[in-house]
Amino acid sequence: MLDLASLTDFLSQPRRIVITTHHKPDGDAMGSSLGLYNYLIQQGHHTHVITPTDYPDFLSWMPGNGEVIIYTANQELSARLVAEAEMVFCLDFNSLSRINELGEEVRKSSAYKVMIDHHLEPEDFDDYRHWDINACAAAQLVYTFITDQLNNKALINKDVATCLYTGIMTDSASFRLPNTTSAVHRIVADLIDAGANNSRIHELVYNSASENRLKFLGHCLANCLEILPEYNTAIISVNKADLQRFDVNTGDTEGIVNYALSIASVRLAAFVVERTDRVKLSLRSKGEFPANEICKKYFNGGGHRNAAGGHSDKSLDDTVAQLKLILPEYKKLLIQ
Ligand code: 5GP
Ligand code: MN
Repeated sequence: MLDLASLTDFLSQPRRIVITTHHKPDGDAMGSSLGLYNYLIQQGHHTHVITPTDYPDFLSWMPGNGEVIIYTANQELSARLVAEAEMVFCLDFNSLSRINELGEEVRKSSAYKVMIDHHLEPEDFDDYRHWDINACAAAQLVYTFITDQLNNKALINKDVATCLYTGIMTDSASFRLPNTTSAVHRIVADLIDAGANNSRIHELVYNSASENRLKFLGHCLANCLEILPEYNTAIISVNKADLQRFDVNTGDTEGIVNYALSIASVRLAAFVVERTDRVKLSLRSKGEFPANEICKKYFNGGGHRNAAGGHSDKSLDDTVAQLKLILPEYKKLLIQ
């Protein structure tokens, strides 16, 4: 275990540091990781961001992106860097299974492990923890880690601010979710003051779709959406052939589930997609409905109350059928 004083002392001289985040990184995963990266390099630390898998093009513009190492494409190098690291930062996840094979490398590394995260039920693998489930994004916690814990607000430069803004913007669904408190807005204001160009970041993330992605979205809404009125639930299910037909790339499916949730009566929305290796589910809910409970109990996953994910080794049709069978258990909550 490390206390804050020892951690601060440890970081007072250049160290070999690895930052990693969950597989199929989203805006918060990349924003928090590159935000911390841009902070640490200012202090002369030898820092590498290693992602377990690739990530979408709409996140591939942040400062430091060119230095990111993708584990699946660079396994030997990644394993060596983790083994040689003196400190590994684990951002936006709290269980080593969330980083696939990289998890074992981190587990066996002698480096100090620092967890900065906002998910429920952390696994006990870390030496230092900055964890708060009320935070709207891991990027918010990276901000408070730098400003409140390390007392280094002066090092929140334009690059750090740009990445952290992206993390908070994407994980709060553009400052919409209930955990976007006034404190979050104050942090966001600080990030803009520090140089984050909010309007441009919005453009880069949300207005960078390909023609295929838009046509795929149209297909999902017109042909793959099923509404279950008696459960106030909407399910979009997409098979492998659809993905091929629209040349769907990493990230192209992100956010589609929110269209199903935008229907006034819908309290639970699911996006179920047949990936090459398994079926992936993304659940979103309104209000108190615990989407994460369904993912944890039935689909090997987890997440937040209103945004959760999981997977299944069943076929697409069987997964959707299983989801429908679960709904009666939650009917009371769904029809409130
Ligand atoms: P998404 O639906 O965008 O993949 O994920 C929504 C939220 O659920 C994210 O906060 C993510 O961290 C969490 N999540 C997604 N998949 C999994 C999973 O397999 N396991 C756990 N524990 N959380 C997940
Ligand atoms: Mn997050």
